[in-house]
Amino acid sequence: MASTTSSDINAFQNALKSAKHIVALAGAGLSAGTHDLLVNLVSILCQHAQQALPDSTQFYPLPPFIYIYLTFFAMAHLSNASFVYKKLYVSSYYSRRVGGAGDGGLWRKYDAMSLATPRAFRANPSRVWQFYHYRRELVLTKEPNRAHKALVAFEQKILSQASSQSSDTPTFALITQNIDGLSAGIQNLIEMHGMLFKNRCTGCGDVRENRNSPIVPALEGTENEEFEREIALKDLPKCEKCNGLLRPHVVWFEESLEASVLAEIQKELFRCDLVLIIGTSGLVYPAAGFRHAVKIQNPQAIIANFNVEPMERLETLETGIDFEFIGPCGQTLPEVLGVKAEVDRM
Ligand SMILES: [Zn+2]
Repeated sequence: MASTTSSDINAFQNALKSAKHIVALAGAGLSAGTHDLLVNLVSILCQHAQQALPDSTQFYPLPPFIYIYLTFFAMAHLSNASFVYKKLYVSSYYSRRVGGAGDGGLWRKYDAMSLATPRAFRANPSRVWQFYHYRRELVLTKEPNRAHKALVAFEQKILSQASSQSSDTPTFALITQNIDGLSAGIQNLIEMHGMLFKNRCTGCGDVRENRNSPIVPALEGTENEEFEREIALKDLPKCEKCNGLLRPHVVWFEESLEASVLAEIQKELFRCDLVLIIGTSGLVYPAAGFRHAVKIQNPQAIIANFNVEPMERLETLETGIDFEFIGPCGQTLPEVLGVKAEVDRM
């Protein structure tokens, strides 16, 4: 583990060249400037709640998979403890971000727990669908930013190397906490919290993507209305296979990640030798848990942090972060990953 953190681009690019299995872990900061942060509310809440978790950067006494499970345990269960933030943070956040002119602040009176839980959906699917329709319509007006493009260009570069070298093929994976679907250009993509434009049937479990606007006629225009509509069950989004009620395929409060997603993440973290932590603090969960897991498996692994602000940390605390590049990810990523020209052309 390095005792100091460097921001030397040349040294980082040398590390990048010799890395074989690169993983990027992205949080809300990747999409900053692209759209309203409301879209990433769940990630933000989890991060706030999980800052209370102990940080064991000095020692890794547990096997690596334990850190991954701890991370998800924390995400699923500590998010319940975030009701304090719900009151202090979300309420003001909603009134500030959603309650502006034009949209009437429909969602102002609700907190995250009454909109993003399985219980809320069972109690009032019409309300939850109007909330998610609002979020879908908001994101549909947005395009991937330079940070998203930099990762796509970087993956293309890795893949072209892979095809020219028959043995020891390098790999890249993006694990994102964001549900906005703006990283759709990435081939090896793990959307750990699901995706706003994927739906899951509550009957048969079928998952499929749907970017239609509106997703069903009954929701049309509700994103701009001042009052909530009562939409009949039969008019809400339905499964193409069994006509069951669809729900957004996102991880809600009180829910755990799917075992298959966990397995994919574990596979990538256990083989990787370089981690890019993007737009999320490397010292709080889930990034901290991933970092621990990687460092136990491979103590030589390089960790690079890309964030808008330097992480708050105790002077004496060894962070385990080898490189840190501070600034908007749309500026730092293209340059530091060496794909500025490609991004300019995209
Ligand atoms: Zn179905």
